[in-house]
Amino acid sequence: MKNSLRVLMMLLVSAALLLSACAGGNSSGGGDDSDDGTKKLTFMFRGGTEEEKAYQKAIDAFEEQNPGVEVEMIVTAADQYATKLKAAITGNQVPDVFYIAPGELRSYAHSNILLDLTEYVENNDKINLDNIWQYGVDSYRFDGDTQGQGAIYAMPKDVGPFSLGYNKTMFEEAGLELPDKDEPMTWDKFIEVNQTLTKDTNGDGEIDQYGTGFNVNWVLQSFVWSNGGSFIDETQTKVTVDTPEFAEALQWFADHQLEYEITPSIEDAQTLDTYQRWMQGQLAFFPVAPWDLATFDTELDFEYDVIPYPAGQTGESATWVGTLGIAVAQSTDYPDLATELVYYLTASEEGQQALVDARIQIPNLKDMAADWAADDSSMPANKEEYLQIVEDYGRALPANNTYNAEWYDYFFTNVQPVLDGDKTAAEYVKEVQPKMQEYLDNAIELENQSK
Ligand code: CA
Repeated sequence: MKNSLRVLMMLLVSAALLLSACAGGNSSGGGDDSDDGTKKLTFMFRGGTEEEKAYQKAIDAFEEQNPGVEVEMIVTAADQYATKLKAAITGNQVPDVFYIAPGELRSYAHSNILLDLTEYVENNDKINLDNIWQYGVDSYRFDGDTQGQGAIYAMPKDVGPFSLGYNKTMFEEAGLELPDKDEPMTWDKFIEVNQTLTKDTNGDGEIDQYGTGFNVNWVLQSFVWSNGGSFIDETQTKVTVDTPEFAEALQWFADHQLEYEITPSIEDAQTLDTYQRWMQGQLAFFPVAPWDLATFDTELDFEYDVIPYPAGQTGESATWVGTLGIAVAQSTDYPDLATELVYYLTASEEGQQALVDARIQIPNLKDMAADWAADDSSMPANKEEYLQIVEDYGRALPANNTYNAEWYDYFFTNVQPVLDGDKTAAEYVKEVQPKMQEYLDNAIELENQSK
């Protein structure tokens, strides 16, 4: 019974493939030749208005330089991208060119979705790999076992150093010394400054200016790492959240609200979320990443700069550096053209300059980045911090090199009782580690089966 059902399914699938082939299209969904000989590429990516505008401009320039080529842009909101890409892949509608996250690399490479770009990248006079951030390229290398080495399956669209911003105008108005851009604050000093800046500015008895408004999903990593803790060991096989260093960092995060009251309460954050509070000049500190700059240029009416995150037990600041890659589908009808588009967007001087001028990223090219950082006519003045994060002290997000992120997501899905003060961090990390380990073991097992 089971077998005959499977045979029937296979027949149906084959019929569907035949039909789509007969329809003159192709099963990849992109690269459709039209009657006038135009070559069509689909490019799927994610982002907000500023990114869409910037990419439209870069794509227009690419089309102009490649007569007879049309690039159809498919843009999704950031939080829907992964799901829509998966759906496209499942439905045999893989775009010719598309963003991938480092955490998706292993599964997509094992499933033969991605075109191997190594030959093109390494034997191309136009590309000088020494002039591109190694972290960016290495995030998309995979030798079948280890990520970070071997074949190149995507080029970095960008590298995203997640730095800490502060409201310079607020500091000046309070008569406070500006934070040092080279020496991270201690945790104690950080609390002290934040308590000074948390206040009722209009005398109505309600606090309306706060120190911080951090999201645990994006800032806890910094606190944990700089306190000597980690989420996963170097072999990427053991979950390591159940240590005193980790628990202390998580508790410190929760205590920003529970004990020190330097951040809006959950109820206050529901009235006005912390991003909006930062935008309105009501927060002293908030993360500022390169993709924020265009929006901040037009919407902030105060001055800001970036500094290292405060340092825990290790005395060293820590943060993550994100990245997204641009990959080519193995199924594309135009591998050369698609790869050329990847080059144009990620590694050509012209393409990079257009995206950098749009203020949505730092340059992928190191020489361009040095010039960019030296220019203090735009905010933040301390752009150098971004380059230091990328080159010196930024780390990959914990689930970037595992087969899936379920183990990591589980931690954040269940952390709320700690933030509410209903559970201590020490209790939580002990309780959550075995479950996270189970998810990680499952991911390792799944990957082994997929090889
Ligand atoms: Ca008030």
